[in-house]
Amino acid sequence: MHVRLVKYTQDPEKTCAVAAMYSVKEKVPDELFTEADYDKAMNVLRRVVASGHHSVLEHANFTFNVSGVSRALTHQLVRHRIASYTQQSQRYVKLKEKGYVTPEKISSSEFAEKYDSMIEKINSFYQEMLDAKIPAEDARYILPNAAHTSIVITMNARELLHFFALRSCNRAQWEIRELSDEMLRQCKQAAPKLFEKAGPGCIRGPCPEGEWSCGKPRNNEPLFS
Ligand SMILES: Cc1cc2nc3c(=O)[nH]c(=O)nc-3n(C[C@H](O)[C@H](O)[C@H](O)COP(=O)(O)OP(=O)(O)OC[C@H]3O[C@@H](n4cnc5c(N)ncnc54)[C@H](O)[C@@H]3O)c2cc1C
Repeated sequence: MHVRLVKYTQDPEKTCAVAAMYSVKEKVPDELFTEADYDKAMNVLRRVVASGHHSVLEHANFTFNVSGVSRALTHQLVRHRIASYTQQSQRYVKLKEKGYVTPEKISSSEFAEKYDSMIEKINSFYQEMLDAKIPAEDARYILPNAAHTSIVITMNARELLHFFALRSCNRAQWEIRELSDEMLRQCKQAAPKLFEKAGPGCIRGPCPEGEWSCGKPRNNEPLFS
């Protein structure tokens, strides 16, 4: 899996903090942006994040390039509606390099070889159909959930906090959890205050999953400590 935060709102933390401050000040936002004391602004940001008044976090956007993930992952990802996505088309792009994801529980099992050979068979049948001039948009019906895909994702900070809460949780499927953790790691580098407490509910308090809880809080892991 390759994940890279390629672009984000300049000064994302100050942008959101000043928006929050502006709502209760007489000054125009531009004055506040220039004059705001950094520490005060960060305190406001912390309060906003903790209190759940998250609309001001929509002013900061983050764009990620993601590749080498499965279609099974992106099918789950695009259920998150407050985001923008651009995914490589299986209609227009004939897959030459037919990469695929093998879950660790399969690669370390007695099914590893059979799995690879099934995928190889599918890939060569896909190629055979393309060679016979079956359109890529039809030949792709044979491709598996495991097939590699790439996608550009843009989310604002409010949606990212929600995404990390659901998808960095141990209850999330392992591949999307890996993506979420990596996106969070890079967001923390870009905007450490904004994403200070980001992640599954168990790093901020009791697990919100109730009887579905995995019972293994993630708060001791380096990403969250
Ligand atoms: C562990 C796990 C298991 C899952 N299992 C399944 C499954 O078995 N089957 C399945 O179909 N899905 C499943 N999902 C997907 C899940 O149901 C959601 O579709 C997905 O997580 C997107 O989250 P969301 O709807 O909260 O938020 P987003 O789409 O990311 O939107 C963010 C927030 O905006 C608000 N919002 C967005 N759209 C609306 C709207 N139309 N009306 C009102 N408020 C809105 C809500 O507050 C929402 O929480 C699973 C998700 C997880 C994390």
